[in-house]
Amino acid sequence: MNKIWLSSPHLSGHEQKYVQEAFAANWIAPLGPNVDGFEQDLCRYTGTAHAAALSSGTAALHLALVMLGVGQNDVVLCQSFTFAASANPIVYQGAVPVFVDSEPETWNIGPNALETAIKAEKAKGKKVKAVIAVHLYGMPAKMHEIQELCRLHDIPLIEDAAEALGASYHGQKMGSFGLLNVLSFNGNKIITTSGGGALLSDNEAFIQKARFLATQARDNAPHYQHSEIGYNYRLSNICAGIGRGQMEVIDERVAQRRANFAFYSRELAASEGIRFQPEAEGSYSNRWLSCFIIDPLQTGGVTRENIRLALAAENIEARPLWKPMHLQPVFAGAPYYGGKVAEKLFQDGLCLPSGSNLTEEDLGRVVTCIKKGLQA
Ligand SMILES: *Cc1c(COP(=O)(O)O)cnc(C)c1O
Repeated sequence: MNKIWLSSPHLSGHEQKYVQEAFAANWIAPLGPNVDGFEQDLCRYTGTAHAAALSSGTAALHLALVMLGVGQNDVVLCQSFTFAASANPIVYQGAVPVFVDSEPETWNIGPNALETAIKAEKAKGKKVKAVIAVHLYGMPAKMHEIQELCRLHDIPLIEDAAEALGASYHGQKMGSFGLLNVLSFNGNKIITTSGGGALLSDNEAFIQKARFLATQARDNAPHYQHSEIGYNYRLSNICAGIGRGQMEVIDERVAQRRANFAFYSRELAASEGIRFQPEAEGSYSNRWLSCFIIDPLQTGGVTRENIRLALAAENIEARPLWKPMHLQPVFAGAPYYGGKVAEKLFQDGLCLPSGSNLTEEDLGRVVTCIKKGLQA
């Protein structure tokens, strides 16, 4: 049986055209027409005014923190239920990650827990330098409430939209809600440049500064002169060419991933004890990954691990939901606000194969295997 992957790259055939142009013009550099074109594509699509294409989403998050002046011992509030890349750049800056629980309606950072965290850190005499909200698996966080809290307490909001390109919230595209917004084009994301990311903002000065920092912070001089510490974080013109080809089909990719989700939820609707990631009114997920939680009390004792292993035995890749950051050995001792929402999601949750290149036969194989696993 051929392997069914969780989320594999899905090329459109348009990428080669842009890559070919780069080769023909000898633009084999970390800047060039594809980088400019890709940045324009991202701005047009998300409705955000300015974008810098970078070498990864992690690099984009790092530059966001650098530009907000996050430094030694500063507090940054971060959604706990996420991939480690959301939090690692806080530590690159010598700052302190403080983790916040999710709420059950979107699985993302909870406004109540966030408010508690802001007030408690303030009471400790700490100034919160930034909030990082994430849209996990493409599901928008409660952005209006989070924006309002940040406004009220005068804290810059960073939107980690690495998993959410193509998703929207009350008609507004993700990647446009924060003061600074982050996208990723890693190989497993909804579109890919093989590896890459972007930083977006309506504030042009931020994006100009990000480009400057990402190209080793070279001052305007004929020789190499530096007044600041720089980074080598720009995206290559070749990779940006792949991105331009991918952006031609982004809406088709979203539609296909949403169709995967619709198939799974329809086929498993009658299965007791399975609950898919909810999509609240006004939210439009890109369904980057189709995920559910499984309640062993309702399945006669069948657990997430039972299902995951049943799938693995049939050469189907599935993964537990993200392990929350406050439970990671590397962040042991980091302050945490909230309850056990994220912890419970991790314990009982599973991500199913979700690529936009899956066939009906692939999806059928996954469902048949899950149904069998539930009967065991
Ligand atoms: C993928 C991802 C990132 C990091 O992006 P890279 O391009 O892999 O560095 C950050 N945050 C989240 C939530 C992600 O899923």
